[in-house]
Amino acid sequence: MTDACLFCRIVSGEIKGTIVFRDDQATAFRDINPVAPTHILIVPNKHIESVSALERGDEQLIGYLFTVASQLAKSEGITKGGYRLITNTGSDAGQTVFHIHMHLIGGQRMKHPMG
Ligand code: 5GP
Ligand code: ZN
Repeated sequence: MTDACLFCRIVSGEIKGTIVFRDDQATAFRDINPVAPTHILIVPNKHIESVSALERGDEQLIGYLFTVASQLAKSEGITKGGYRLITNTGSDAGQTVFHIHMHLIGGQRMKHPMG
């Protein structure tokens, strides 16, 4: 937990978020500025700044985020239509919150090509 980190504060419950999943490893909540009908952020409860800060030993935790995404896609009803999982890393990619997170985006045909 990092006091200054927005997502740590959502994980701890200090700041309100629309939580859709929570367990001892990960938390998922709806993005405050959704770009599609489903736009959920999936974060590890442990503070990790970005993909660039990953260390050996984080593999299970990061892999687990995909499992949570898969489950949430099912409960959102977007598995058949498909969805995007995006992890922006660093400023060129547009990362604005430096607590590693996966965007789960779906519920519409994606309009924007990669890049
Ligand atoms: P990034 O740009 O780092 O990949 O994604 C950060 C995301 O966090 C953005 O999509 C932004 O809308 C979302 N966000 C920023 N502040 C808040 C907040 O206070 N609550 C929630 N639920 N999402 C936020
Ligand atoms: Zn954090």
